[in-house]
Amino acid sequence: MPDKYPAAEWVPWKRDDAEGRPTFWPGSCTPVAVVLHIMAGSAGTARQWASRGHYGASWHFTVGRDGHVMQHLELDDAGYQAGIPASNPDPAWPLWRGHGQNVNWYTLGIEHEGFPGEPFTAAQAEASRALCRWLSETLAIPFDRRHFPAHAEIDVLNRPNDFNTPALREAHYHYLFEEEEMTPEDKAKLDAVYEALVGRGNEPAGGELLARWNANGNSLLLGYLREQEKVAAMSSRLAHAER
Ligand SMILES: [Zn+2]
Repeated sequence: MPDKYPAAEWVPWKRDDAEGRPTFWPGSCTPVAVVLHIMAGSAGTARQWASRGHYGASWHFTVGRDGHVMQHLELDDAGYQAGIPASNPDPAWPLWRGHGQNVNWYTLGIEHEGFPGEPFTAAQAEASRALCRWLSETLAIPFDRRHFPAHAEIDVLNRPNDFNTPALREAHYHYLFEEEEMTPEDKAKLDAVYEALVGRGNEPAGGELLARWNANGNSLLLGYLREQEKVAAMSSRLAHAER
């Protein structure tokens, strides 16, 4: 398993703080999910905290508003990002393993630069999705909401706007997983068009297009198909009217 995201700048979290306290647990995480956060701060602060070895909060990735991604921990390092006090209620998040196991031992954390109430920029949303897709492939975990929960779904008491206010959070989830919402019928149609456009992915050019498409989702093409259907329906209604 590669431990570095190729598109990220490696800005490692310093292992100990000024008082010699450990800022993360190296090699202690076996990730089965990735928790999404909003920093309520700037990417510059993340860079400072990592370089100085800030104690009490540490995470794996920071996604800037300009789309720049930093990686601070390796994929088997456990940060301090999603833990909750034992006095908190058990979250309804389906992958929760109970208070007996530290949630940082089985989740990674992605912080997004910015404040709750601010929509992600387009560059940031795109970088966030590309990173989540890479993590899904690299960790062999499904690309869906239960494997990419919001911090608010774990720390239900203290983090209602993490990541982001509920409406903006839903908008980002829709953006992340819209492809998952396609019907099998839509998927079959897309596959047919896809194959016609790029072949079966055996040609180098086709393979490259395929990879690029997979990296970016295919909602544009779905929109195009919908448009074609509308045009077809309209023509058929016109044809009827003329009869
Ligand atoms: Zn958080």
